[in-house]
Amino acid sequence: MKKRHTFLVLACLICLFFTTACKRTSNNSETKKEFVLASFTVLADIIRNVVTDDFIVKSITKPGVEVHAYKPTPSDLINASEAFVFVDNGFGFEIWSEKFVSNLQFKRLTIANDLDPIFITEDFYKGKPNPHAWISPKRGILYVDIIVKSLSELRPSKRELFERNGEIYKNKLSKIDKDFKLFINNLEQDRRYLVTCEGAFSYLAKDYGLNEVYLWPVNAESQITPKRMARTISLVKKKNIPSVFCESTVSNESQMVVVNETGAKFGGNLFVDSLSSANGPANSYLGMLKHNLKIIKKGLY
Ligand SMILES: [Zn+2]
Repeated sequence: MKKRHTFLVLACLICLFFTTACKRTSNNSETKKEFVLASFTVLADIIRNVVTDDFIVKSITKPGVEVHAYKPTPSDLINASEAFVFVDNGFGFEIWSEKFVSNLQFKRLTIANDLDPIFITEDFYKGKPNPHAWISPKRGILYVDIIVKSLSELRPSKRELFERNGEIYKNKLSKIDKDFKLFINNLEQDRRYLVTCEGAFSYLAKDYGLNEVYLWPVNAESQITPKRMARTISLVKKKNIPSVFCESTVSNESQMVVVNETGAKFGGNLFVDSLSSANGPANSYLGMLKHNLKIIKKGLY
C-alpha cells in the first residue's frame, strides 16, 4: 500500500514537472516572436504576408479609421515600444509619424524612400508627392520588394523565408495586375474616367491608363471648393460618365451632390487608406484590390 502511495506521488510530480516545462516552452516560443509595427492596416497585411507566423505584425490605425490625421494614443506608444521596427508609408501620408517616432527606440522603414512619386498638381498640395502608391497593384509589387529587402537586412537569418514568401505573394499581385490591364483594355476609351472623392487613385490611373477626377486632392474635405465641384459636375455631364465613387474612410455626401446634379450612379465605396473589418469586403490587401476592381468594373462597363 505504501509502495503504491509513493508511486502515485512520484507520478504526480513527474506530471507536474512536464506540465510546467511545456508551459514554459510555449511561453518562451511566444516571447521569442519579434514584433513589427506598421502605420496602417494595408501595410500591416503586406508585411504579414512576407514574415508569416515568424513575427507578430500590428497596425497603429485600426480598420476603417482615417489615417492621414490620426492622433496616436498613449497605449499606441506603449505598444510601439516593444516593436523592433516601425514601417510607415511616407510621402506625407502619416502626418503624425515624425512626432510619433521621435521618442521611440526602433528602426524605421519608410517605403516611400525607395519609390518614385507622382506629384500633386493642385492647390495647397501642389508639388507634394501623392502618398497612395499602394493603390496600384503594380506598385504593390514594389512594396513587397522593399519590405523583403529591408527586413532581410535587419534579420539576415530570415532572408530566405522573406524572399520565398515575397515571391508567392508577388505572384498573386501579378495576377491582379493582369486583371486590371485586361479590364482597361476592354473598356471603351471614352469610359476611362475614375471620379472619386479623394485624389487617391493617381498611381492606379497612371499605371493602367485611366483619367483621374476627384473632389479634393488629399484627405481633407475642407479642400472642396465650389470651383472644383462645378468642374467635376460639368465633366461628368460632358463625358457622360456612368458612375462616380467615394472612399470607405470619408463621407460620400459631396459625391452625392455630383450624383444628384448629373444623373450618374453612385458606384460604391472604394478602399484605399484602410482595409475593412475582418468580415468586410476588403479585409486583406489582395481583397481590397479585387474589391476595387470589381466595383470600378461594375460602374464603368
Ligand atoms: Zn488618403
